[in-house]
Amino acid sequence: MTIKSHIRTVPHYPHHGIMFRDITTLLKDPIGLRTTIQEIAKRYSNVEIDKVIGIESRGFIIGAPVAYQLGKGFVPIRKRNKLPAETIGRDYQLEYGSDRIEIHVDAIQPGERVLLVDDLIATGGTAEAAVGLIRDMGGEVVECCFVIDLPDVGGKARLENLGCPVFALCEFE
Ligand code: 5GP
Repeated sequence: MTIKSHIRTVPHYPHHGIMFRDITTLLKDPIGLRTTIQEIAKRYSNVEIDKVIGIESRGFIIGAPVAYQLGKGFVPIRKRNKLPAETIGRDYQLEYGSDRIEIHVDAIQPGERVLLVDDLIATGGTAEAAVGLIRDMGGEVVECCFVIDLPDVGGKARLENLGCPVFALCEFE
């Protein structure tokens, strides 16, 4: 089984001209889900990591079971006004307009080593904001891990320029 073969492409979603890579077809397949989590967890099983951080919302679906498998805690980075306690946030640019992600101020201790997880990296804007938040709190991003990389869009190179290693299970043009 290949992970890539279980990802469905939905043309013109959410806008005309966008080829949306849909992981729900991968998640609903029991071997697909298990293989995805195991492949990621295997990569970090001998790496010193204190926490796994997932980006809302598909990053939660991947990140929480990876954290469980590694025996580590899980921390959510959420969209604005979703977290109940005190937060810090960062704004980032979207194709049209901007958005904001937030994290609880007590989620990371200075010096902690963090694995950042999301389903897909495109421009890297979301992950760059997440890396910024983690670094604002004194955390160290060990690696940014994705199910899918779109290398032509340049997000991986953008994160690597920030000194963040990037790993993805598969790529789409
Ligand atoms: P970026 O900030 O790198 O441009 O976009 C990545 C974010 O948008 C991720 O949080 C990801 O979940 C979402 N995203 C953008 N395009 C797609 C797509 O084609 N498929 C999926 N599953 N998520 C996408």
